[in-house]
Amino acid sequence: MHSEFIILGAGISGISTSYFLEKSGFSSIIFDISNPLSGSGSTMKSAGIISHFFPFKEEIKAVSSSLKFYDEIINDSSENISYNNSGLLAFCNNSDKETLSRFLDAMKSSNADYSLFDSKELSDIYPMLSMPSDEIAVVSKNSGYYDINHLFPIIIEQLKSKNINFFNNIEIKTIERQNYFTFHTNHGIFTSDKVIITGGAWSNKIANMFNCTINFDTYSTQAAILSIPQASDNNLSSLPILYKMSNGVYGRPVSSSSFLFGDGSKKYFGDPDNFKFENDKNFLEYILQQANTFFPHQKIVSVQKNWSGLYTSSKDSRPLIGKLDDDIFFLGCFNGLGIMLAPGCSKLLVDSITKNIINDDFSSFNIQRFNNNNI
Ligand SMILES: Cc1cc2nc3c(=O)[nH]c(=O)nc-3n(C[C@H](O)[C@H](O)[C@H](O)COP(=O)(O)OP(=O)(O)OC[C@H]3O[C@@H](n4cnc5c(N)ncnc54)[C@H](O)[C@@H]3O)c2cc1C
Repeated sequence: MHSEFIILGAGISGISTSYFLEKSGFSSIIFDISNPLSGSGSTMKSAGIISHFFPFKEEIKAVSSSLKFYDEIINDSSENISYNNSGLLAFCNNSDKETLSRFLDAMKSSNADYSLFDSKELSDIYPMLSMPSDEIAVVSKNSGYYDINHLFPIIIEQLKSKNINFFNNIEIKTIERQNYFTFHTNHGIFTSDKVIITGGAWSNKIANMFNCTINFDTYSTQAAILSIPQASDNNLSSLPILYKMSNGVYGRPVSSSSFLFGDGSKKYFGDPDNFKFENDKNFLEYILQQANTFFPHQKIVSVQKNWSGLYTSSKDSRPLIGKLDDDIFFLGCFNGLGIMLAPGCSKLLVDSITKNIINDDFSSFNIQRFNNNNI
C-alpha cells in the first residue's frame, strides 16, 4: 500500500496531522505501536483543558486553531459533546509584575478575553474559593475543557470515515530508504514519500530508526479526581478551571461533587517503555493539601481515581515542528499542553510541508530555531 505520508504515532498529534493532510488533498497512513484508545500514549490520560493563558501570542493562536479543529470534528459527527467553556482562573503573584504583563500582553494582542480579580472580588463571586491577598486572579474567559475519554474516540471515528488508514499494534521490522520509504511490518509492506513522527515521549525511539535524534526532555506528570464533600449544594460544576502559577497545580470540575487536580512535572530519565503509569507516594498527600488550599471551607480527603503519564518539552518549553531530515518531519514537545496545542501546530506543519507556508507562527515553533547541530 502506498501513501504520500506515513504518520508514526496516533495520539492527538498524529490524528490531527492526518486530518489536515486529508483536508489539503494528501493521503496518509497512521501507524501506532499500540492502541491509542487504550491509553498507550498521553492523549487519553489528559485532563482535556484548553487554556488561553500563555505568555506568547503564537501559542494562543494555536489554541484557537485547535478549538476550531475540535469544533469541525464534532459538527461533522452526530455525537452530542460540548466544550465546557468554564473559563480559567489563574492565580498569579501580584508582585511579579513582569511575568504577569507578559501573559496579559500576549492575551491582549491575540484578542483573548480576560479580566482581573483581587482576593475580595474573587470570594464575592466564588465563596468556595480562596486566594492569598498578595495574589491576583486572571480570568481567561474563552478557556474550558473537553471530556477527552468521550471526544478522542469520536475524532478517531471521524477520521476513519474519511478513508484514512489506521494500523494499531504495528510492528515495524525494517525501514528501507531510497527515493521513498518502505516499511516492512507485521501488517505487510507499506511505502510513502514522506514520514511524520508524532510519537509523544517515544518520538526519539522512532527518530532513531531513521538515524535522527530530537533534542527534548521527558517529564512525568500526575493527576487525581478528588471527592469534595458538601459540594453538591455549591454547584461545583459551574466553577472555572483553577491554575496556580507559582507551582503549576491545576484543577477542573468533573461533576457536582468531584474535581480533577493535576500537578506539573518531574524529569523522567528512563526509557518511556519502562514508565510505570502510577502515582508516586507523596503525590496524593501533596495534591490533597493543594486542593484544600483552593477550597479552604471544605475538608477534602477522598481520592476517587489517580493516574500519571509522560510529556516532553523542548529547551525553551515551546512546541517543536518541522523538518528533521529530507522528507522526515516531527511534531511534538507540547510541554504537557498537547490537547490545546497539537491540532493548531499540526495545521502549521501541514501548511508548511504542503503549501510551503512559513509564517511567523511556524517560525516560532520551527525545530530549526535551535542550531542544526543540536537537533
Ligand atoms: C495526566 C496528564 C494530564 C494532561 N492534561 C492536559 C490538559 O488538560 N490539556 C492539554 O492540553 N494537555 C494535557 N496533557 C498533555 C497531553 O495529553 C499531551 O501533550 C498530548 O496528548 C500529546 O499527544 P501526542 O499525540 O503528541 O502523544 P501521545 O498521545 O503520547 O501519542 C503518542 C503515540 O505514539 C505511539 N507510539 C509509540 N511508539 C511508537 C512507534 N514506534 N510507532 C508508532 N507509534 C508509536 C504511542 O502508542 C502513542 O499512542 C496531559 C498529560 C497528562 C499525562
